[in-house]
Amino acid sequence: MVLRLPEYRSKELFQKYGIKTPSGTVITKDAYRAGTIDYDALPLPAAVKAQNLIGGRGKAGGIKLAADAQALRAEVAQLFEHGFSGNEVDTLLVEEQVDIAKEAYLSFSIDRRAGNFSLMASGSGGVEIESAAPSALRSAGISNLIGLQKFQASYVGKTLVQAGADPEAVRDVIARLYRVLKEEHALLAEINPLVVQKDGSLLAADAKVILDDNAVKAADKAASRKQATPLQQAGVELGVNMVELDGEIAVISNGAGEGMTTLDQIVQAGGALSLWIDLGGGALSAKPEVLDNFIERVMDTEPKVLLFTAFFQIGKCDLFAKSFREIYLKRKARAGAYLPQIILRLDGRNAAEAKKYAEGTTMLILDSSQEACEAAAQLSKGGA
Ligand code: GDP
Ligand code: MN
Repeated sequence: MVLRLPEYRSKELFQKYGIKTPSGTVITKDAYRAGTIDYDALPLPAAVKAQNLIGGRGKAGGIKLAADAQALRAEVAQLFEHGFSGNEVDTLLVEEQVDIAKEAYLSFSIDRRAGNFSLMASGSGGVEIESAAPSALRSAGISNLIGLQKFQASYVGKTLVQAGADPEAVRDVIARLYRVLKEEHALLAEINPLVVQKDGSLLAADAKVILDDNAVKAADKAASRKQATPLQQAGVELGVNMVELDGEIAVISNGAGEGMTTLDQIVQAGGALSLWIDLGGGALSAKPEVLDNFIERVMDTEPKVLLFTAFFQIGKCDLFAKSFREIYLKRKARAGAYLPQIILRLDGRNAAEAKKYAEGTTMLILDSSQEACEAAAQLSKGGA
């Protein structure tokens, strides 16, 4: 059974998982009629919020701001006596008014077509999320098999950081909202607006949770029957972080910070990513054939361009260039094996020696990240 929780119940769940919400009190029409509301116990200045299960209460007149005790009594009376936009009100949430520095958006929702959940955030959220600039919005599909990965959280959460939120607070709220989703069997857990405060902390000014135990259980069952793709299997074996997107450039980077910079440079150069992979620390100490197998599975996804970018202090650039050369020659000789345009950006130990491995191939081996990203963007569009 699908159950949409009213805002105050959704916020109770948020509090249970440690997501900060404004403090508030629920009052009912029954208490109002009986004259038992203790107005002195209500916060001031207040936001008076009708708990009807409809969206867009703000625009419809179901959210009122009251600066003082007199205004608060008047708004409570108005909403209980007359409702708003034709809606009767039987429950109100009276909250301390939040000083909204910046409204952002964050949600996990089920993507029925893809058969998984999707994490979405926007730095310009609030009630106008539908009309938010697409560039401010980021999302990532969460594999039912692997679950939310740190890399996905930092990728999607970056839009909140750009809106002024503290990176640690962003990681924290995403992890907590994910627990709400999973542990409460929710189809949707949404914060809109997620208020970015002046000090970078985050506050859930609104909350929307939809529960559906049966649907979630059915999705889990389907997921456990569904096979991971060869790429996902190879990724799990290697312990990498991976975000699957829908552009033309597959990026493999060594370190999340490095990956983030690369992503920004590619986007700035007009390119779009199909895959975003962070090798993390562990992958470099894996057996070379395990890493090579993974790189081949990435090639099998047929990106136009494969960009491998790393700065090696310990690992050696020339060894990586050599193994890419071997993969290149092997696949070139094999009928039906797809070969993307390979760009290696290798900097650090033995970077100069690495370059000779491009000879006789179409691989580009560069040491500048900027140049590599610009080349990737251009070549992904068929440029020279
Ligand atoms: P919805 O319209 O049903 O989604 O209700 P929300 O709780 O999201 O409120 C709608 C809008 O009212 C928010 O985006 C805010 O702009 C505004 N709002 C809600 N609570 C407060 C508050 O405590 N302080 C201020 N300044 N604005 C608020
Ligand atoms: Mn809202």
